[in-house]
Amino acid sequence: MNNKVAVRKCSEYDLDEVYHQISDIWQICEGPDVSGKSVLVKPNILIDSDPSNAICTHPVVVEAAIKFLQSKGAIVLVGDSPGAMARGYKGEKSGIFQACQKAGAEWVDFAKEPAEINLRKGKIKIASVINKVDLIVSLPKFKNHGLVFFTGAIKNTLGLVPGFTKAKQHALHSDRISFSELLVDLNEAVMPQFFIMDGIVGMEGPGPGQGTPVNIGILLGSSNPLALDIVASKIAGYNPNDIPTNSVALSRGLWMKSAGEIIFDGPELESLIKNDFKKIPLDGSKNIVVRFLKNRIHFLKKMERRPVFIHENCTGCLDCIKICPANAITMHPKKDNYIVLTDSKCIRCFCCSEVCQSKAVEIRRKFFGA
Ligand code: SF4
Ligand code: SF4
Repeated sequence: MNNKVAVRKCSEYDLDEVYHQISDIWQICEGPDVSGKSVLVKPNILIDSDPSNAICTHPVVVEAAIKFLQSKGAIVLVGDSPGAMARGYKGEKSGIFQACQKAGAEWVDFAKEPAEINLRKGKIKIASVINKVDLIVSLPKFKNHGLVFFTGAIKNTLGLVPGFTKAKQHALHSDRISFSELLVDLNEAVMPQFFIMDGIVGMEGPGPGQGTPVNIGILLGSSNPLALDIVASKIAGYNPNDIPTNSVALSRGLWMKSAGEIIFDGPELESLIKNDFKKIPLDGSKNIVVRFLKNRIHFLKKMERRPVFIHENCTGCLDCIKICPANAITMHPKKDNYIVLTDSKCIRCFCCSEVCQSKAVEIRRKFFGA
C-alpha cells in the first residue's frame, strides 16, 4: 500500500472512457500485480436498484474494472450482499449481474456458507470467498451516509458481511463512533488491495439510499482506503476530519498518520470541491457543550435526526422491519402499509432508510412528542 490517490475527470458512463481512466489510475497508484491471480471485485450494491438512482456502483464501472483486471491476467469474481437480500441474490436490477455476464466474470453469492473472522473485538461473519481469492478490488460509490456522513472505501468493505448479519453489527455498535470503529476494524482484518470509486454520478442529500443523483464527473482510485476517503469527502465539501471513519483510522495511525501524507495526482483539488453538494448535517457532534446538553436535555434528544415513515409511499414489503436491529418498528395492526416507530427503542442506525426502495423512510429532525 502507498498513499497515492489519483482523480480523473470522467463525465459519462462510456465503457471505453471508464476503462481508459481506470487503467490510468491503476498505473499512477501502482495497483497490485494481478496476473494469474483470482480477484474479487466488490461493488457497492446497497439495495438492488436501477443505475439511474445512483445508489449502486454503475454497471459500466463494474464492467470496465472486470475487463481491465482480465486484461492484466486476473480471473475475476464479483459479488456483494445488500442488507435486505437473502441467499441466492443476484444484482440484476442494478445491471451488475449482467455486467459480470457480459465480461465473463463469475457472480458469487456471499450468503452461501459464510466464514467467520476475528476482529480486534470479537468475531464477524463474512463471505467465505475472501478465503479463496488472492486479492479484493473494491468499487465504492461517491455518496452520503446518514450515520457516518460520507460512505466511501472504508465503508464499502462492510458489504463483505452477508445480508441481514450486518444489522446485528448495528445493534452491537449503535453509535457513530462505535460503528466507525467496527468499519476500521473490519478493514484491518480484510483489507481490499485496491479501491476505485465511482464518482461520475454520485448521490447528495439523504444517502446512502434516499438521496439525489448528482453529477460529480470523476473516478478516484487508491490502494489506501483512508487516503481515498479523505480526498473524496473533501471533494464533497466535508472537512475530512468530521467523517468518523477517517478520524478513527487517523487516530489509530493506520494506513497513514495525517492527510498531509497523501500524494495526489489529478486536477487541482480545490477546483474539484463541490461547495453546493448537499451534505448530511453533522449534529454539532464535535462541540463538547452541545454534546453535554444533548445527553441531558430531554427536549434536545427529542429533536435528534430520526427515521420518519412516509405512509403513502409504503408498499408493505416489510424489509425495514426485517433489517431493524433494535426491533423498533412494526406494521400497524389495523392500518395497511403503516409503519409504527417505537422511538425509545430506535438506535438511529438508519438501516430502515437504506433498505427502503419506495422512498417511504426519510431521516430528518422531527419533534417526537411525548
Ligand atoms: S417503509 Fe419501505 S421498507 Fe418499510 S415496509 Fe414500507 S416500503 Fe417496505
Ligand atoms: S427504526 Fe430504523 S433507524 Fe431505528 S433502529 Fe430500526 S432500522 Fe435503525
